[in-house]
Amino acid sequence: MNERIWRKATRPCRRALARWGVQRQVTRAVEELGELLTALSRFPKRATPEEVADEIADVMIMCRQLSMAFGDELVTQRFTAKLQRLSEDVTTSVKGVEP
Ligand SMILES: [Mg+2]
Repeated sequence: MNERIWRKATRPCRRALARWGVQRQVTRAVEELGELLTALSRFPKRATPEEVADEIADVMIMCRQLSMAFGDELVTQRFTAKLQRLSEDVTTSVKGVEP
């Protein structure tokens, strides 16, 4: 998801949190994560790329809400650190072998 789309999600996600509350949206996030898990476990034989993409989109919308609920600054800090670690792992790892 590019930065512009992520920002565009802010307003509707803020409204969803205000309307339904954090706890309900956390429950919804768990449901959406389950749907993505199912789609991925069925791919490629019993789920299409479009079905997987739908579930990824749902999870990304829920992740935007979760980030706002738990704190964008904290999530951004952790995200940045984990990206840095991934970048280091990619740089130092042997091709085809996970760290
Ligand atoms: Mg879904």
